[in-house]
Amino acid sequence: MNAEIIAVGSELLLGQITNTNAQFLSQQLAEIGINVYYHTVVGDNSSRVLDVVKEAEKRADLLIFTGGLGPTKDDLTKEAIGSHIGRPLVYHEEALKSIEHYFVKTKRPMTPNNKKQALVMEGSTVFPNDHGMAPGMMVKGTKNFYMLLPGPPREMQPMFTNYAKPALLNILEKVEKIESRVLRFFGIGESALETEVEDLLLAQQNPTIAPLAGDGEVTLRITAKHESEATALRMIQEVEEEILRRVGDYFYGYNDTTIVRELADRLVESSQTVAAAESLTGGLFQSEMTAVPGASQFFNGGIVCYSNRAKEKLVQVKTETLADHGAISEACAIELAENVRQLLDADFGISFTGVAGPDAAEGHPSGTVWIGLSSKLTGSKAFKLQLAGSRAGIRKRSVKYGCHYLLVELANNK
Ligand code: ATP
Repeated sequence: MNAEIIAVGSELLLGQITNTNAQFLSQQLAEIGINVYYHTVVGDNSSRVLDVVKEAEKRADLLIFTGGLGPTKDDLTKEAIGSHIGRPLVYHEEALKSIEHYFVKTKRPMTPNNKKQALVMEGSTVFPNDHGMAPGMMVKGTKNFYMLLPGPPREMQPMFTNYAKPALLNILEKVEKIESRVLRFFGIGESALETEVEDLLLAQQNPTIAPLAGDGEVTLRITAKHESEATALRMIQEVEEEILRRVGDYFYGYNDTTIVRELADRLVESSQTVAAAESLTGGLFQSEMTAVPGASQFFNGGIVCYSNRAKEKLVQVKTETLADHGAISEACAIELAENVRQLLDADFGISFTGVAGPDAAEGHPSGTVWIGLSSKLTGSKAFKLQLAGSRAGIRKRSVKYGCHYLLVELANNK
């Protein structure tokens, strides 16, 4: 099934409001495997709405309208579509009762045009409006499905989630099963990852593969459709195996997990612990670790050592190291990681030192980051990064890189 989202409202065309309804609906539809090929916006004008409908009917199975269900003259969506597909408008008893109830409750007189909001296209599935008056609806024409939703996002979003989405899933169930799985990657850029799987992306039909990047991470959503759920899952599995064969080194988990949670799980599984010495990140890594319930199983503790003096006094970094190499250096990162591991008797020590910006420091440009990693089993090393972005972004991404290096270390020494 593919859909077109048609937002009705002249204020959208005048630039007075942003079409956030289309964004919300596209995200929701992607989750259930419905492809959205077009977003259309049209003003409150019957003949132009009809032009758009006729065009959309040719290219989409499902036409979703938002807006124009209100009580005023320019709210014309129902009337225009109802007469176009030959569905007269009839009063929906429950919707009428709920509108009347609303006016009794608010002690306001009900006008005839309010009653108009309880009109629905004959034969449609009606979606109650728990946050307003106009009900939504969906009806099947000769070839297409038509779904009408109210304009205000606070009414439309819960209506879609609670009533319209289950109704769509019900239709899809009868046709085909939709399964999807998100693969999460860190340490590889969006374009590098896409290049690795470019041929799969170009050839995709079923399953589909949708990349998304954000917060320094890249995800690939694989969605398969088949009458049999088992077959859909097998189709996903095959694509996943091929993707991981190429970029598996950067893969860290499925669906809604986070890199921090995966690290926590791997540490618990292997009964190992970590301790941190943080300069650049000022405790951010430790905050992330302790946000995971049961953190005491894998996190021993850490030290925030922002100044050189703190690095010397609290983490016993040698004065010569700081004098010869500076704090933003491989040598300092390694000493921090090694010392904190020993001080806190952990299996791993990790350290963060660098320049979060916006200004350069010790002659290093903003975004220069050293992450030290010390392992009881395999010794110590440090990784250098050159990150771009804001101070907050650099600090946040450094923490994720730290988790990534630890995950790689754990995987290599399984
Ligand atoms: P009402 O009963 O409030 O009249 P309606 O279903 O008739 O609702 P419209 O009159 O078209 O909807 O829009 C009402 C309000 O909803 C708009 O003023 C705007 O704030 C919001 N809105 C409408 N369409 C969108 C959209 N596509 N994206 C975001 N907000 C929207």
